[in-house]
Amino acid sequence: AKKSGRNTVLPYKQEYSSSLEKKIFLEEELRSAIRDEELMLYYQPIIDLSTEKIVGCEALLRWIDRAGKFVSPVDFIPVAEESGLIYELGNWINATAFKQLKLWQTLHTDMKYISVNVSPHQLQNADFVKDIQRLLDIHNVDPRHIQLEITEGTFLQESLNTQSQLRILGEMGFRLAIDDFGTGYSSLAYLKRFAVDVIKIDRSFVMDLEDDPADRDIVKAIIAMTTSLGFDTLVEGVETREQSLIVGALGCGYGQGYLYGKPTFADDYAEQYIGLKSV
Ligand code: C2E
Ligand code: CA
Ligand code: CA
Ligand code: CA
Repeated sequence: AKKSGRNTVLPYKQEYSSSLEKKIFLEEELRSAIRDEELMLYYQPIIDLSTEKIVGCEALLRWIDRAGKFVSPVDFIPVAEESGLIYELGNWINATAFKQLKLWQTLHTDMKYISVNVSPHQLQNADFVKDIQRLLDIHNVDPRHIQLEITEGTFLQESLNTQSQLRILGEMGFRLAIDDFGTGYSSLAYLKRFAVDVIKIDRSFVMDLEDDPADRDIVKAIIAMTTSLGFDTLVEGVETREQSLIVGALGCGYGQGYLYGKPTFADDYAEQYIGLKSV
């Protein structure tokens, strides 16, 4: 790739000479993206498999840069985490989702909850509970209508801030979801200590479900285990009718994936899934 000088405007599709260079570039861009409000939340429906009704949705962060190009959260969330920007960003995500939930609930929809992703870095900050309480107050939202998606590993972290805040969030009434389940430590007994509501089974187990009997056995075992511990189960990344039928037959309660609906921006979501025209 051609080297650019400090004050040259970098082209968006540049190749970076190193991953460090890419990271530094992304971090600077992300700072200005937050400032210039280039970020938005998309929403993806979550389905009750027994009734096929939508019960809620997951908020997923999107960055559309000045050139109109989508930057994947898989690329920029880690950058936000390493730079500490994730804390401020996380508060913005929570505020935006709470405001959206309030609006949709006011319009008399039967949305039970909005699910937001919480990075382990956010929970290490001792102010997390205080800040999220303030946001609940500002937007007049009941924590029982907010689900926090937290990866397995976070629950096993020895950080006292994380441990105590996870407990307090459960006591406050937030719904707690274990995200990407099966990819990490898989200590279900440990999870029992927290007020966990639902286990989200990672997409990697669902992808080849039709053809791979081993995956089917794994999913079956996870559902049996989690159900016996009293957690609900949700499968992520359901793309085909057959996958949906298989996980339903295995006793899984909830599903999410392109089959039921792709993540989309708020107005589009309202129109497609809750029958509201441009609100
Ligand atoms: P995740 O939390 O596991 O989110 C699910 C990802 O799977 C999303 O990708 C979603 O668009 C995608 N997905 C949903 N259904 C299907 C399907 O049927 N097939 C396939 N192939 N993919 C499906 P997305 O939005 O690109 O997000 C990627 C990851 O970035 C998320 O994984 C999460 O770890 C992170 N992320 C996204 N938004 C946020 C956020 O607001 N905060 C934090 N901390 N992380 C976020
Ligand atoms: Ca998630
Ligand atoms: Ca997930
Ligand atoms: Ca994932």
